[in-house]
Amino acid sequence: MPVAAKIAALIVAAGRGSRAGEGVPKQYRLLAGEAVLSRSLRPFLSHPDIGPVQVVIHPDDRTLYETATASLQSRLLAPVAGGSTRQASVLAGLEALSATGASHVLIHDAARPFVTAGVIDRVLAALATHDAAIAAVPVSDTLKRAGSDNTIAGTLDRSGLWQAQTPQGFRLSAILAAHRTAVRSARLDLTDDAAAAEAAGIAVALVPGNPGNVKLTTAEDFAMASERLSAHSLSDIRTGTGFDVHRFTTGDHVWLCGVRVPHDHGLEGHSDADAPLHALTDAVLGAIGAGDIGQHFPPSDPQWQGASSDRFLAHAADLVAARGGVVSHVDVTILTERPRIGPYREAMRARIAAILEIEIGRTSVKATTTERLGFTGRGEGLAALASATVRLPWGGD
Ligand code: MG
Repeated sequence: MPVAAKIAALIVAAGRGSRAGEGVPKQYRLLAGEAVLSRSLRPFLSHPDIGPVQVVIHPDDRTLYETATASLQSRLLAPVAGGSTRQASVLAGLEALSATGASHVLIHDAARPFVTAGVIDRVLAALATHDAAIAAVPVSDTLKRAGSDNTIAGTLDRSGLWQAQTPQGFRLSAILAAHRTAVRSARLDLTDDAAAAEAAGIAVALVPGNPGNVKLTTAEDFAMASERLSAHSLSDIRTGTGFDVHRFTTGDHVWLCGVRVPHDHGLEGHSDADAPLHALTDAVLGAIGAGDIGQHFPPSDPQWQGASSDRFLAHAADLVAARGGVVSHVDVTILTERPRIGPYREAMRARIAAILEIEIGRTSVKATTTERLGFTGRGEGLAALASATVRLPWGGD
């Protein structure tokens, strides 16, 4: 994906899916007080690398759409009316997006409200080296083929089998051409967009999705999703702490809590040396007993050279989400004489909130000097402490 790539998101919400009950199409049902569509949209609207966001809706659903998206921000384009099949709806959305100048598109099911920034990041990262990439999870259950009387006719080899999720990312012109061809040739058997790409001979990379990124279809799916979001079910409260230090070096800025802060030094480190985000990542990992940042992102691995630390924290948040939990609160303290943190505090809180996909009120950033004592006092380096409170469902380990 070239540096100048302009990435759009297309959310497919034109379905009539009523198997989930309750009269309204499933993407407009409320989950813990918020429409499924709104939950599915937010991670794309808050992602810093994604520009225009287009939703395809059923023409009858305009009022439901307006209600569901009333509180969302303006990167949302006016909705496009879909067609009679999923494929026709996707094509309508892609045609609309082709007018925006977007070079790439992530296509996402409106009925997957648990998509995370981490999954989006992984698909985007794969688009740097592939024409197409989709989120997917390896099949872990043993697969049986049923015979005519519903007894087992065979056990399938599950090696190499993945369950496709969304988002699915493509070069916009390529997937638009693939869908036009599919519609023209009346290929209505394609159940996802990767299948259209495959039919057009485009190589599609598989990147790890998230087991929690489920598609809500049945009433049981909704019951499980509600349970997952219910405050009462997340009463297993855990706390983790983190600490990190980076040495000052030559440079003209530092990264602190995902914010670029001008300074007369830089920070030395393998990634972007964002010590507060590293401490916070360790705090979140600590709260779920998932080791430390070095285990997940070894400094010896060249792919993390110069990496933005956002993805470390997003990955830790993904691990919490995969366990059905939420990050309830985080608190970061930066220990340094300079630069001054105060002017950037609110931007730092906002950035942490965006990465973790939590309300800004659940984040805290503080700073202190060490009265010119020790290495921070002498200006040799900067330290950061963090704590994270995580709520998990009972019954985990
Ligand atoms: Mg570090």
